[in-house]
Amino acid sequence: MNRDLKDKTLEELEKVVVGLGQKKYLAGYLFKFIQVQNGREIGALSTLSKAFRAQLMEQGYFIGRLKVVDVLTDPDGSAKYLFELADGERIETVLLPEEERRTLCVSTQVGCPMGCAFCATGRIPFRRNLTAGEIVDQVNTVEEHAGRITNLVYMGMGEPLLNYDAVLKSIRILNHSAGKNIGIRHTTISTSGIVPGIRQLAEEEVRPRLAISLSAPTDALRGKLMPVTHKYPLAELLEAVRFYQANTGQRVTFEYVLIDKVNDSVTHARMLVKLLHGLMYNVNLIEHNPFSGCEFTGSSRERIQRFASALKDAGVETTIRFRMGRRIKAACGQLQAGYHPRERRKQVQAE
Ligand code: SF4
Repeated sequence: MNRDLKDKTLEELEKVVVGLGQKKYLAGYLFKFIQVQNGREIGALSTLSKAFRAQLMEQGYFIGRLKVVDVLTDPDGSAKYLFELADGERIETVLLPEEERRTLCVSTQVGCPMGCAFCATGRIPFRRNLTAGEIVDQVNTVEEHAGRITNLVYMGMGEPLLNYDAVLKSIRILNHSAGKNIGIRHTTISTSGIVPGIRQLAEEEVRPRLAISLSAPTDALRGKLMPVTHKYPLAELLEAVRFYQANTGQRVTFEYVLIDKVNDSVTHARMLVKLLHGLMYNVNLIEHNPFSGCEFTGSSRERIQRFASALKDAGVETTIRFRMGRRIKAACGQLQAGYHPRERRKQVQAE
């Protein structure tokens, strides 16, 4: 059993506390100490008796903590955190402050098994899933450094729906009214298109927003960019989206990474509109962000605007996400946690 108390929902903490012969309400003190006050040591929780604190520690319970290895900040205000996990693995997390909104882009896996051609993380072999506690602590630690987080996107390293249980548990912890209370409507899971995960999510009582990385209007092109298409072709993916919408009544966001002269023509935009006909959706257009060894270049502003106009002319709500954090390699698809040969800072400075 995982003895990290940060990895536990309030209900799970209650079971731990009762199991140790203590009153259930004491779990509330533990939850608040860990999730609101960012408490680090069980010994420092003075609202619990000394004897109970000692009992918890004797039983091997602890409060997990990520180690901050490095923080890079961009003049645009974004910041990229490099964390080391207890077993020495590394992940990155990105803070994106925009006016009132302070969004944290969290990682869910070390490396990623999906291999999307336009993404640096996809070049890192999958190493392991994160625990819910390791996901939650990305938020706790960044809050300690940089203040309150208002929005969460599960869009960092890894495919969230392949680490389903830990992702949902972390959302329950972070959304809990006795904890950080980060709004469920301010929480987004972004998937490359894991069909069973989308269907499972459709039946949850907890309802984060859903974003799907699409990036091409045909299986042939998408298969070249996103190998997941071979397993879950577009027809199957969109059937799952229809099921999701029938169950939840929620619209979804389709993300589309624009790559120069690969998927960014007006014809591609029109094919996309046709493909998504009948769904409730909006589109986020994302400039492709370069990284070392990547064969693609990002579309020009002019091509992006033309693509966006074609969508808007067809009545599609469309947002262009111009890259934040580009100078520190913190933009979409650029996270690699120093797993590539060159050192992190050197790489940022050289490119
Ligand atoms: S885009 Fe997401 S799913 Fe695809 S390789 Fe990168 S991290 Fe993995």
